This record gives sequence, structure tokens and C-alpha cells, in this order.
Amino acid sequence: MKDETKCLHSGYTPENGGPRVMPIVQSTTYRFESSAQMAALFDMPTAPMYSRFANPTVDAVEQKIADLEGGVGAMCTSSGMAAVMLSVLNLCSAGDSFISTGTVYGGSVNLFSVTLKKYGIECIFVDCDADEDTIRRAVKPNTRLIFGETIANPALTVLDIERFARVAHENNIPLIVDNTFATPVLCKPFEFGADIVIHSTSKYMDGHALQCGGVIVDSGRFDWTCGKFPEFTEPDESYHGIVYTKDFGSMAYIIKARMQLMRDMGCYPSANSAFLLNLGLETLSLRMERYCENGRKVAEYLQNSPKIEAVRYAGLPGDKYYALAQKYLPKGTCGVISVDVKGGRAPAGKFIDSLKLASCEVHVADIRTCVLHPASTTHRQLTDAQLIAAGVNPGMVRISVGLENIDDILSDIEQALAQI
Ligand code: PLP
Repeated sequence: MKDETKCLHSGYTPENGGPRVMPIVQSTTYRFESSAQMAALFDMPTAPMYSRFANPTVDAVEQKIADLEGGVGAMCTSSGMAAVMLSVLNLCSAGDSFISTGTVYGGSVNLFSVTLKKYGIECIFVDCDADEDTIRRAVKPNTRLIFGETIANPALTVLDIERFARVAHENNIPLIVDNTFATPVLCKPFEFGADIVIHSTSKYMDGHALQCGGVIVDSGRFDWTCGKFPEFTEPDESYHGIVYTKDFGSMAYIIKARMQLMRDMGCYPSANSAFLLNLGLETLSLRMERYCENGRKVAEYLQNSPKIEAVRYAGLPGDKYYALAQKYLPKGTCGVISVDVKGGRAPAGKFIDSLKLASCEVHVADIRTCVLHPASTTHRQLTDAQLIAAGVNPGMVRISVGLENIDDILSDIEQALAQI
């Protein structure tokens, strides 16, 4: 099936006379005929047994996303941050380190540099444009993975997935890619060598700002028996001695994430949230096309405005990441644009306050156009010098172009720019 069809049909097939629309299974628990049947599930988790880590409605959405990304399995989480955290914790313990590009989402930077550090896990940041030798030099004997974002939020850099995958694989470690802004409709990182993909499903996948969620998808291709990951090849005492690579083969990573981490940490989404996410997924392919079209038109308009210093949008010829975008995102580079308003902080604020159709929100990738001033909100704790180092200018405005008619979006921007 092609993506448009997968968006509608993957994950759930009604039985004869069954509900056409994927039902919400609002039960935390499931009944079994015998304790032997239930015991068998503890060996091979083929069906849900408790909704803290598996549920039929969530399972259908997991299968749909795994199918869209081309993975062997997926696990949903109650937020994108939970997906980021579990994807790393599934490989790192106290005393380990990992590498991340510097321009990942601010929440991930904070998790990596502050919170995980308190638990003894070190993150080494490298420039997302670093050459192979520079990335290679950051790898240490205790490095367990490399992490990056396909299109970074809000810097809008494009990750050279193949370059990072090469260095990861020559060191027998996996590459994890946060594919939130691209979605599998615009880029499938597994095709370029990524091993694990994660998403904040709160963004384009949902699209309607109805639920917070995340997902981890396993390509099933990384060789966990390479000698670096004994927790995959030796018995897990917390799971009655199961050996993930032996018992679950290519699904070792995603089953370990569910049966060890999700079981213990419980940040699983509700069936109701998964149902809402599925509604968004059904139109994902169609929506991504329009986000890209509207985003490109707004980027082109802003590029010609005398009130705008710089436009960051990898779909614009002349953008620093245009060539990488042509390779990894040939269908488009989503609807998110970052602009530096001339004059810095004050005019940027005035521009946002003057918008009438677009609203000011701590959100991105919605069907409705929304804007944010990172320097005074998500990146508020940073000084102006730190902001610039993080690729966030004090006058930067992040515009998430929605699905309204393009003429209405442009005239709103035009009147707001006229106020500064
Ligand atoms: N990854 C990216 C690229 C994001 O943009 C976000 C949130 O904006 C997250 C992860 C975290 O997702 P959530 O807000 O669903 O926890």
C-alpha cells in the first residue's frame, strides 16, 4: 500500500460485522480462560494484558505508524518527551554516554543536558553540520547511540541522516532520529540508515491539537548481538530471564522498551488519545501536501519583505539546507518557518501581537496557523549570547503555517508586518 492508503487502512481491519471505525477499547484489563493462557502472554506478549503498557486501540495506531515508517514494530507513549526519554533509556544506564546534535528540540536539550545527567548519563553535543571526523571524535567507548532531528525545531536545520548513520554503524551503535516535523510522509529515515525513529505525535501526526503523544518505531535492522549491548543478549532477570535477541529477534529493541521500561514507568497513552491520534493520521498524507505548499508560499513572501532579516526554510532555493532537503525531503519541508524580524526582540513581539488570524501558542504543526517567539518563551532561560549559540536569534519568530486559505494567511502577515 502507498502512504495515503496506509494512513486510512493500516493497523485495523474490521471483522465480519465488526465496527467500521477503529473502536475505543476503554478497558484497563483483559479476561483470560486460564492462568496458563495468561502465563504464555508473559513469555510472548502477542496480545494486551494490561493497559499500562498495551491496549487494542493504541496497538492499532502503533501498527499504522510502524507501517508508515517501514518498521517492524512501534510503541506509543503519553508525550513526545516520553518517547525521547524511553528511546535513550532503552540503551543507556548510569555511566554511559550518547551523542546528540545541538539543534534538537529545546525540551530534548534540557532532558539530555540536565535531567539525564542527574542519573549519570552524559550527552555530548555535536554540531548538526559536523563532518564525519568530528562526529567520530565524539564517540567514546561508553557511547551507546547517536540522536538527531530530521528537521530541527526551531532551528530548521536538516540532518544528513546517512552521514550520522555511517559513523554510528562503524562504531556498532544505532542512530535514533526524531522525525516529528518531517513525518513519514515527507521522509522515511530508515531508508537512509536510521535504526530507531521517534515522534512527538502531538504535532503533524495529530494535527488538530487534540492529544499529547509520542511514538518509538523500531526498524528491526540493528544488530544488538554486536557485542556492545549485553542487556539485549543476556537474561533480563526482571523479565523472568528472557533474552531479548533470542526470544524476540528483530523486535528486540521495541519489546524491551515495552516489557521493561513501559511496564516499569507506565507513560502509556489512553485508548481515547490513540483514537484521536488516529483521526489525525487518516488525513496525514493529504495535510502534509498542503502544509508544504502553504509553507513554501509564506516563506517566499517573507523572503521578499523589507521587514524580515532572514528566513529559514529548507524548501527555499538558497537556504543553507536546500541541497540536503532535496535529498531527504523531496516532497517538501513541512509548514514550519523561522524568520528573524529586523530590529530584534521588540519588533518581533509587535509582529506577533498584530497578527489577527494566526494565534500565539506554545504549539506547532497544527491545522491552524500559529506563531511563537522562542526567545521569550521556550528559550526564555537563555541569555542573548546563549540564544545565538543555540541558533535562536532574539528576533526569531517561528511560524507554523496551517491549512487556511493561503490568501488569508498572507494578508494577515502583511497587515501585521505593516505595524512594525
Ligand atoms: N520532538 C520534537 C521535534 C518536538 O518539536 C517536540 C515538541 O515540540 C517534542 C519532541 C516533544 O513532544 P511533546 O510536546 O509531545 O512532549
